Amino acid sequence: MSKEGVNGKEKNDDVSSSKIASKIDISERQRQTLIEVVDDIAGEEVKQVTLVLLNADEETTDEEISEKLDMRLNQVRKSLYKLYDLQLATFRRIRDKSTGWFVYFWTLHPERIDVFVEKKQEEVLDKLQNRLEYEKSNMFFTCNNPECPRVTFQEAMDNNFECEHCGGRLEAFDNEQLINVLEEKIMELNDIKETTKKIMKGEK
Ligand SMILES: [Zn+2]
Repeated sequence: MSKEGVNGKEKNDDVSSSKIASKIDISERQRQTLIEVVDDIAGEEVKQVTLVLLNADEETTDEEISEKLDMRLNQVRKSLYKLYDLQLATFRRIRDKSTGWFVYFWTLHPERIDVFVEKKQEEVLDKLQNRLEYEKSNMFFTCNNPECPRVTFQEAMDNNFECEHCGGRLEAFDNEQLINVLEEKIMELNDIKETTKKIMKGEK
């Protein structure tokens, strides 16, 4: 038998010795934001995996995480790919010569949380702006029945100003209050965005 065939253990060690250091300096604020965000949008298991990666000094394999957390390998991988989708983790793969299988080395990129938060804020702002635009550029009609939906001028015309659901008469709906609320929300969020930016800048 060849040396390669017998000495699987040694070959495995070769693979792990090719790990790259992955410690990235982040602030305490970034650390907390990362944990909160991950917990919020991805759940407890992904958070657990994130914590292992966050505390690691070098790349970590899915198997190592599985052992550390006593979590099924399947679940660990799912969590890792979730982090990858969120662009908060990357992997590097190497073929283990003794088994022929790929070994995945994972690295967390906690510093990317800032970009992530900024992007999310942008998304919410965009949505609010679009809604505001829609409210401002349309006239709406209602039958005043709380169970029936509001309709646009065009829809009301098409139905001879009769409600499609209850047959009631459609009257003009004043959306000024709604517009005010949207404008307030947009201002608030812009303020939050500015504050977040300042905090992020101040740390660098
Ligand atoms: Zn109605």
